[in-house]
Amino acid sequence: MIPDTPAGRFAPSPTGDLHFGSLLAAMASYCEARSKKLEWQLRIDDIDGPRSVPGAADSIQKTLIHYGLTWDGPIRWQSAQHLRYRHALATLIDDGLVFSCSCSRRSLPPGKVYPGTCRHNRLTSIDEPVVDKALRIVMPETLEFDDAVQGTQRVDVAATVGDIIIWRRDKLVSYTLACAVDDATDCTEVVRGADLLQSTAAQIAIMRYLSLPAPRYAHIPVAVDKNDDKLSKHSKAATLDSLDPLNTLQRAWHFLGQKGFETRTINDFWLQATDHWQISQVPAALRMAELQT
Ligand code: GLU
Repeated sequence: MIPDTPAGRFAPSPTGDLHFGSLLAAMASYCEARSKKLEWQLRIDDIDGPRSVPGAADSIQKTLIHYGLTWDGPIRWQSAQHLRYRHALATLIDDGLVFSCSCSRRSLPPGKVYPGTCRHNRLTSIDEPVVDKALRIVMPETLEFDDAVQGTQRVDVAATVGDIIIWRRDKLVSYTLACAVDDATDCTEVVRGADLLQSTAAQIAIMRYLSLPAPRYAHIPVAVDKNDDKLSKHSKAATLDSLDPLNTLQRAWHFLGQKGFETRTINDFWLQATDHWQISQVPAALRMAELQT
């Protein structure tokens, strides 16, 4: 199944307010989609109820609008797609790729990939009762894909990713499975932070197992603070709402390696930005310090 409409997307998790790092992903995905005259969708990755912060999804929408980032069509809520994920899980189980795993985090070697301990516990049907166990998927040894910013990626999946969890012990679909199914079904361009590169290999593996077409990928550098920590909703990164939008948009534009232009309004910024956008100018460096104002 090929997505009905070619589209890019921004897919924040509602775990807090947007910050400069989020703006980079929003801007790059927006410009890549709009410069190709494609739709730009907003997907809220709210599958992980326990981690979602009340009010965060609302505040994300308000911030995007405040920064002049308007999306096409209705918001896509992952929490509304349970059937889609279950269907994908059933197919993967039918194909003999899924096993149940009772290993606790503590019983596994710290900082290493999952050693395959429970690989023999293959599931044969989605209706098989599984009590207090996670479901993992057998990953390929290696995988290759193209990235518009990082170049061709040859990933040693066995050594760096391993057999990941696709359905959690608490019965929630994992981010990797949900994201793989949604991206392959709904969009054709995925532009996001390079911190997700390894997850991309696992997501492409899942798409291939499900015979779904993989989108084109571009992984932009991750913004770090002066201590070299990634800006995140959990770090003390300033929220976008506390910053001046036009100035912050221009800083993000510069961070993404794009050629500057004169502008006075947010509307005009986006008109010119989509016109001038060159993905080939985005630096490949995986981590870059946030520029000072
Ligand atoms: N929802 C995830 C996040 O906010 C990842 C989004 C993505 O795949 O772009 O980190």
